[in-house]
Amino acid sequence: MSAIRMPTPDPAILARADAIRAALAAALPAECVVTDEAGRRAFETDALTAYRRLPLAVLLPRSTEETALALKLCRQHGVNIVPRGAGTSLAGGAVPQEDAVVVGLSKMNRILEVNYADRYARVEAGVTNLSISEAMAADGFFYAPDPSSQLACTIGGNVANNSGGAHCLKYGVTSNHLMGVRLVTFEGEVVDIGGPALDPAGLDFLGLICGAEGQLGIVTEVFVRILPLAEGARPALFGFDDAEDASRCVAAIIGAGILPVAMEYMDNLAIEITENFAHAGYPLDVEAMLIIECEGSTPEIDAEFARILEIAHAHGVRVVRECQSAMEAAQIWKGRKSAFGATGRIADYICMDGTVPTGRLPEALRRVGEICAAAGLRVANVFHAGDGNMHPLILYNVNDPKEQEKAERAGEEVLAMSVELGGCLTGEHGVGLEKRDLMSKQYTPQELAQQKAVRAVFDPEGRFNPAKVFPLEERAA
Ligand SMILES: Cc1cc2nc3c(=O)[nH]c(=O)nc-3n(C[C@H](O)[C@H](O)[C@H](O)COP(=O)(O)OP(=O)(O)OC[C@H]3O[C@@H](n4cnc5c(N)ncnc54)[C@H](O)[C@@H]3O)c2cc1C
Repeated sequence: MSAIRMPTPDPAILARADAIRAALAAALPAECVVTDEAGRRAFETDALTAYRRLPLAVLLPRSTEETALALKLCRQHGVNIVPRGAGTSLAGGAVPQEDAVVVGLSKMNRILEVNYADRYARVEAGVTNLSISEAMAADGFFYAPDPSSQLACTIGGNVANNSGGAHCLKYGVTSNHLMGVRLVTFEGEVVDIGGPALDPAGLDFLGLICGAEGQLGIVTEVFVRILPLAEGARPALFGFDDAEDASRCVAAIIGAGILPVAMEYMDNLAIEITENFAHAGYPLDVEAMLIIECEGSTPEIDAEFARILEIAHAHGVRVVRECQSAMEAAQIWKGRKSAFGATGRIADYICMDGTVPTGRLPEALRRVGEICAAAGLRVANVFHAGDGNMHPLILYNVNDPKEQEKAERAGEEVLAMSVELGGCLTGEHGVGLEKRDLMSKQYTPQELAQQKAVRAVFDPEGRFNPAKVFPLEERAA
């Protein structure tokens, strides 16, 4: 991961850049093509902001048909393609190259159909995650996966990264709620995979598309499963003087057969940074805090919290704050969901995304602390504890190349540790650019070759997101 190498742009494409831009502008409506430098700058990076490259051009299709035309043109001109939703990827998945055309889905943001009887919604890929739930909240339904970036990130990006969120502990991640996609292939063909019916026959191509990080085609429409809202839901805060006790408590709750709807962990630094920004009423005098949410009827919630409280007391909890109102609950979640943004106000950071079995959380947290201390860097931990999906935010100064390298090396050690403890490199953010060169820590060369062979069936020339996911091989090689 350290000093991530960007691929060498194809000189033959760069030599034709002006001609390609002119051809794209001539073939597509003006409002769908961005060729001027200032306009292209807006697409040069994503939330992995340390890496940026000016794309050759940006295409913003308004329909599946325009997307198909865009891909046919890209193929005709032999350029690489970087699909893009809202650009909130923390792994550099939407960072372009100089020889690539960004195909952004932001203009395709309509909810096309909502069917409560059959429990699905059909939406365009550029619809934001939150707006799906907002569109049906008044009717008592919602879309469950809730990335903290849900105000901005698109459902297409969620499908590409198989995104998760705080409430995925109980409900599962994007793949558990995905029923179908409309995909535009490398050849510019439109393919429907899955749809409103449950469990369609045949091979599970949907399983391939979900989590493919935009390497198998561009998703333009999505069928998502929708669920009825629970009768009620209530979060509570549990503060501990010992961070390891808090993490042991997580495993004990799960081990007791209790499945709260969410169980989030924040350490002292994450609490302080977030509280200064969001004023969510978090306790500042604890080493670590769990936000646990239970849902159901009031007696069901009370009964579940009583069991959780017993376990928390056995693990030395000192502060317990049960939420008393809907406004208080909203403040608690506003804090948690703005934790990354609040951190970005005080420092540059890289956000790790490894998972570990919940039983290994105490050891994993200790080792994260040791790795970052050895690098002389501060780390704030805020993550989906119930899933063992850790997000150490390693703080550094992007203007200091030595410090950036130290941060990236520390991140690499943290992810290697996740694999060593029986977890994996990425729980929800994807591999992207960031973890590309670490894939060989998790997979053998044969396993990587198999994955690449599957990819080649969809994209034989390797044009979609070529520098991502798999360890980089220079084009000439
Ligand atoms: C503050 C913050 C908090 C976050 N919290 C969470 C969280 O709780 N859980 C979580 O899982 N993630 C989280 N993320 C990461 C990010 O929001 C998700 O990965 C999200 O799914 C990306 O969506 P996007 O629309 O921004 O996609 P982009 O960043 O634009 O793209 C992401 C990847 O998907 C591909 N892609 C995008 N659209 C399409 C498409 N239509 N067809 C094919 N490929 C496509 C891109 O090529 C790229 O590889 C967070 C990010 C930030 C900045």
